[in-house]
Amino acid sequence: MNANQPPPLVDYNLFEANAPLREAVEREGASWAHDLVQELGRLAGKQEAIDWGFQANANPPRLRTHDRFGERIDEVEFHPAWHELMRVAVGHGLHALPWREPRRGAHAARAAAFYVWSQVEGGHGCPVSMTYAAVPALRKSPEVAAEWEPLMTTLDYDPGLRPHKTKRGVLFGMAMTERQGGSDVRSNTTRAEPNGANGEHRLTGQKWFCSAPMCDAFLVLAQAPGGLSCFVLPRVLPDGTRNAFHIDRLKDKLGNRSNASSEITLDGAWAVLVGEEGNGVRTIIEMVNHTRLDCVIGSASMMRQAVAQATHHTANRSAFGNLLSEQPLMVNVLADLAVESEATTTLMMRLAGAFDRSNDPAEAHFRRIGVAIAKFWTCKRAIAVVAEALECHGGNGYVEESILPRLYREAPLNSIWEGAGNVNALDVLRAMQREPDSVTAYFEEVERARGVDKRLDHQIDELKRELADSDEVEFRARRTVEQMAVVLQASLLLRHGEQSVADVFLSSRLVNDRGYAFGTLKFTRELKSVVERHRPRL
Ligand SMILES: Cc1cc2nc3c(=O)[nH]c(=O)nc-3n(C[C@H](O)[C@H](O)[C@H](O)COP(=O)(O)OP(=O)(O)OC[C@H]3O[C@@H](n4cnc5c(N)ncnc54)[C@H](O)[C@@H]3O)c2cc1C
Repeated sequence: MNANQPPPLVDYNLFEANAPLREAVEREGASWAHDLVQELGRLAGKQEAIDWGFQANANPPRLRTHDRFGERIDEVEFHPAWHELMRVAVGHGLHALPWREPRRGAHAARAAAFYVWSQVEGGHGCPVSMTYAAVPALRKSPEVAAEWEPLMTTLDYDPGLRPHKTKRGVLFGMAMTERQGGSDVRSNTTRAEPNGANGEHRLTGQKWFCSAPMCDAFLVLAQAPGGLSCFVLPRVLPDGTRNAFHIDRLKDKLGNRSNASSEITLDGAWAVLVGEEGNGVRTIIEMVNHTRLDCVIGSASMMRQAVAQATHHTANRSAFGNLLSEQPLMVNVLADLAVESEATTTLMMRLAGAFDRSNDPAEAHFRRIGVAIAKFWTCKRAIAVVAEALECHGGNGYVEESILPRLYREAPLNSIWEGAGNVNALDVLRAMQREPDSVTAYFEEVERARGVDKRLDHQIDELKRELADSDEVEFRARRTVEQMAVVLQASLLLRHGEQSVADVFLSSRLVNDRGYAFGTLKFTRELKSVVERHRPRL
């Protein structure tokens, strides 16, 4: 007897079940990676992988500062489930695909694959993402990249602290944030003193947030004689001894519990300059741009998992004599969530495609502003979508086994790290001021749908008026960026989405013909089919 309880959402293919993602993979030139994404979709639907996600979060990492003889070791121990998750992620190239296969659609392929696999568990995406993102920053110093990149791009997950040249594969983290200032990295006080030839330095100072401290090496910002600079800092020195990278404690976090985030002290740690001295921000921003893309992918992935769970649950539970998914008010809520999820997935894939096409100046400019717009907006929306999808489950959604509490705790993180909301909104303004071509590229993109629907045409014109207004620009930044995000999503959905989805999006988001909460859409007959498009089938 199932007592009106839905069957678990298991043994289905997360890629096959996701029509907007499948369509976007084709559109963004990543169809050659179809088998990879499909395989990850299959694995992510397996009970075994789902269990790894729960186990890795129920058994968070533990810090071991010293060994039994009192020697510092600064190691972090993980549950075996974490290692299984990492093995799948690295084994399928989620940390390196575009660098391994630099072909058309590679970033889009990776985005789709990362999105599918992250639905099992978000925390382990952190070192995967940072390793992927570190490569373009390291390339600022070709000789440094030549040493590390071959090891960062193997498909071998080889945990444990050993000299990198003895390992089959390595992972990277980043350490920018300090206690006195995170967003404002120019207030960093960690010192870098020259120590020999070839850019070698000794780093001394503390970092307030350093995630995945068990990684093999880190990109670190520190003050060199010539100003704030970027360094590569290995955990283990070439002679096999430990670098002076001490983990003071692990953070007790709201969510993201499978992953370790630490406070560290660098006590004269050996490191090598990457990029030009004094150009640290310009160097590490290459990494930040890619991790920001991953914040968008992560938020899209969480939304999708939440919507998949909600549409599945409500299609298998009855109340007051009818399935929840048949009740008009629940249809309104589910369709609203589904539309948001589809708009985010479409935007994420368009952005990943821009990373693939960055050799085209227009795409590079679009990418510059698009990342900041999308990070601001999608990370914010994920929080609201997950909370509402949780409620669709009633009391079951408040219980850990449903996965929704874990998603709920994870959701705010993407909006904080790699630039919190305000910082991203202000970054859009910076792009507009310093790189006006990025605004041109943005409008070229949204204008592609001009003439298709007059509601969009009108909002594009409104947006242009908004941007021309020079009063209190900084104060209005969130409002401006929000509008830019919604206009972009509307344009993409009109060109590429289902007609019914685009229509709901435009009437509810673009012209605000709705209330404030989810589930306040105006009635249309198509809402049920919107929900069905997003409901996974077992
Ligand atoms: C779980 C977790 C893991 C992390 N891992 C890492 C890591 O591995 N490496 C690393 O370097 N960092 C890491 N971080 C740090 C993260 O990137 C910072 O917390 C983030 O950049 C914000 O910096 P801050 O905490 O100093 O906040 P602050 O800079 O003090 O910002 C506080 C608030 O003020 C806002 N704000 C800042 N400037 C302005 C302004 N000019 N106008 C208006 N509002 C403004 C921000 O948007 C934010 O809302 C991690 C954080 C978390 C939560």
